[in-house]
Amino acid sequence: MSYSHQPAPVTAVPIRGTDKTFPVHRVYCVGKNYAAHVREMGSTPDRDPPCFFMKPADAVILDSRVPYPPGTKNYHYETELVLAIGKGGRNIPAGEALDHIYGYAIGFDMTRRDLQMASGGIGHPWDAGKGFDFSAPLSPIVPAIAIGHPDHGRIAVEVNGKVRQDADLSELIWKSHEIVAELSKLFLLQAGDLIFTGTPAGVGPVVPGDRLVAAIDGLGTLEIEITDPL
Ligand code: MN
Repeated sequence: MSYSHQPAPVTAVPIRGTDKTFPVHRVYCVGKNYAAHVREMGSTPDRDPPCFFMKPADAVILDSRVPYPPGTKNYHYETELVLAIGKGGRNIPAGEALDHIYGYAIGFDMTRRDLQMASGGIGHPWDAGKGFDFSAPLSPIVPAIAIGHPDHGRIAVEVNGKVRQDADLSELIWKSHEIVAELSKLFLLQAGDLIFTGTPAGVGPVVPGDRLVAAIDGLGTLEIEITDPL
């Protein structure tokens, strides 16, 4: 038997300091995970239950040029710490969860905010608002063996040279190890899974020509430019 068509290529993320790449399996995301961002979205922070959603693996984009997506008039950046799972499992105890994290990256959870808000209001899924093409720009992965497991440190973004998000990883409502534990109660986590951990306050719209520089202590920077629609 042969394939009816050529399978899509595996999304593979460079790993800093190595000659290997990290093949992506799934992309999970956590919503509502910094209190100030929950408030700016008009909600009240609460811890339970965690807010999980997904993006397709091929939404990950490693190119610095990110095309403005169709179907929106309110396209937002969300700067996030991203976990890269190196060892999968079910029902992973929180106390063992860090052992399952291979490394960390900086990601943008790009969002068609108008579509996300419209769908939420009528009880429809978030997919069109969150899981579209090129919606997950990502930096190279930094192995935990090189930097440990960051639980504090600055997370920030500049848009066209102005600071728009500026927070600390210690403000995460669900911490990295807790996110892994909670997700593994619902899904079989596998090596290659990425987890976007949520964004601090200060999200906002961008348009073609805008330049974004995200930074997380210990992980370097992720720079992208929004380009004209395809
Ligand atoms: Mn997000």
